[in-house]
Order: sequence, then C-alpha cells, then structure tokens
Amino acid sequence: MYDALELSLSDWQILFSQWNEQKFRASQICQWIYAKKIFNYFDMTNISKTLRDKLSENILMTLPILIKQQNSKDGTKKYLWQLNDGNKIESVLLNHGGHKTACISSQAGCPLGCIFCETGANGFKRNLTRGEILGQFLMMEKLNGADINNIVFMGMGEPLLNEDNIFSAIRSLNDKNMRNLGARHITISTSGIAPGIEDLADFEIPLRLSVSLHATNDNLRSKLMPVNNQYSLQKLISALRRYKDRTGERITIEYALIDRINDDVEYAYEMAALLDGLEPYINLIPFNPIPSRPELKRSGDSRIKEFCRALSELKIEFELRKERGTDIMAACGQLAGSK
Ligand code: SAH
Ligand code: SF4
Repeated sequence: MYDALELSLSDWQILFSQWNEQKFRASQICQWIYAKKIFNYFDMTNISKTLRDKLSENILMTLPILIKQQNSKDGTKKYLWQLNDGNKIESVLLNHGGHKTACISSQAGCPLGCIFCETGANGFKRNLTRGEILGQFLMMEKLNGADINNIVFMGMGEPLLNEDNIFSAIRSLNDKNMRNLGARHITISTSGIAPGIEDLADFEIPLRLSVSLHATNDNLRSKLMPVNNQYSLQKLISALRRYKDRTGERITIEYALIDRINDDVEYAYEMAALLDGLEPYINLIPFNPIPSRPELKRSGDSRIKEFCRALSELKIEFELRKERGTDIMAACGQLAGSK
C-alpha cells in the first residue's frame, strides 16, 4: 500500500492516470497536504466523495506521532516523534524574532560518531524515508498553525548519507504545487561527505550548504570526527572548491569551540590558511555540553574572545552564534532521540 508522504507530485500524477482521474487532481491533493496541512482525505472538500473514499482505502497517511514537546524559555521548541517502526527522532523549532526555522532529522541516530555529539554517541538505527523527513516539517507547521520560513538539516544524522530521500523531500518542499519553499530557505549541514558535496553542486535546486569543520588539521579532526579518516581535509576542501566554482554559492563553516581542544588561537591561523580562496562564512558555535562526554567543556569567554580577535585580524568573516534551547537539550549536537 502506498503512503501519501512517500509520493512525489509525479508519483501522484501517475497514480491518478492509472485511476482514470484527471491530472490536476494530483496538485489538488498536494495543496491540501503540503500547503494547508490537511491530512485527512475526508476534509479535502474539493475532491469528490468517491475519490476520497478510494484514497482512504488505498493510500495511507502516515505521520510521525508526537510523543513529547518541550518549550525552552528562549522560544525554542523540541519535538520527540515516534516513527511507524517504533524508532524515535527529534526536531527543533527555532524562533528568531518571529522568523521560524525548523531543524529536521535525516536519520534515526547517526553512524559517524563525532565525539562531541550526543546523536553520534547513541549509535545508528536507519535512514529516514522521504515521508518521515517531510512529516516532521509538516507536523511542526500544523502544530504551530503557521508556515515555517526556513528548514535546516541539522537535526539527527548525516543528510548526505541519506541523499536520495533528502533530495526527494527537498524537491517536494520546493515544488510550487507542493510546499513552495524557496531554495534560499533550505540548508544542508554535512560533516564533510565529499561525494555528497559534489552531488549537491549538481543538484538542480540551489540550496545553502553548511559544513561542520571543528578542526583545521587532519590529526585533530580525525580524533574529533572519525569521518575525516575517510574524507580527509584535502578531499573535503577540494569538493568545496568545486562546489563553489560550479554554484557560485557562499559556504558556511560550523566550528564549535571546545575548551583546550580546538580553541587555541593557532587554529584560527590554520583555519585561514586551510580555507584560503574559499571565502566562507564562519559560524562559531559555543560548544553545547553533552551527557556522554562530561570531560568536554565549552571554551571560556577569554579564549573565545582571543579566537575571535585572531579571525578578525585575518579578515575572516564570522559570527559568534548565541546558544539556543540548551535548557531543554535542543541545541546543536544535543539531540538524542530517546529522552
Ligand atoms: N550531521 C550533520 C548535521 C547534523 S549536526 C553535521 O554534522 O553537519 C548539526 C550541527 O551541530 C553540526 O554543525 C554539528 O557539528 C554541530 N554539533 C554537534 N555537536 C555539537 C555540540 N555538542 N555543540 C555544538 N555543536 C555541535
Ligand atoms: Fe553525526 Fe553530525 Fe553528530 Fe557528527 S555532528 S555524529 S555527523 S549528527
């Protein structure tokens, strides 16, 4: 049996032509689901009763089930969902002065095991389907009774290890007949899967790309992020150069400052040399403490200041991000999917 959110617009069109229904019915259904967030076929009032019956008998409408919602005092909300097979995942809604951003999971768990990340510490279950990816976003819009302006794939998991489903979900988010979310409002964050970055460079929708760097030499980066053993900095940087050449897009680099691990000023200089010519935008993230690694601490204010001063001197554009949602374990790297 088919499941509604697993179907792309052309899947719906093919299905309706098999059912001898008119083609425009496909966009009508998608409007109800993606624009109006109506998930019950019987509420789709411009669809004939016969077709509604047929839909409800033949096409499932599976959505993630909300298990728990936590609201931070800074306006951030965290949602814990249960999937059809019992796996649990989390999504986060960030609220910046009325501007809403959904932080969506791409996998249940993550196989990459970065030492500073709680998701990585909890192991890997499986890739999410396109319907499970879209379901998080649509349910958050439904629960909030309003459109969410931006989506970032910075929840649980590595999006570029689940490329087909992520790309399929993004096509539907972007499609004018579906959610109609602008490409500039969609960001993929990757730990540095070089072949995936190459695929992104050729992807027809010009998304935004964010890269989790966190260390500026292979020795340290491999200790913090085992994925670096497979895709070294040299491979990562050359993929980024090709991405920049092909798309002309500015890349964002994520760098979490961890006390005495990667926050020495010498690393600011190393970063400048490493990224020379890429002209990225640097997001410095205050490290968010995680239960599985109590020995890792956030850098102190004076070390952060020193690091920032060095970057300014090097004329590297950066922003020191404010922490969000740490009180409910909803900040970057804190999603565990089980609590
Ligand atoms: N797997 C992808 C996307 C999910 S992680 C990636 O790694 O990019 C989302 C972001 O949170 C990444 O930039 C990641 O490096 C960062 N992050 C992970 N753990 C963190 C922590 N404890 N403190 C701050 N940022 C963290
Ligand atoms: Fe996976 Fe990203 Fe966490 Fe690394 S930082 S373990 S890649 S989710």
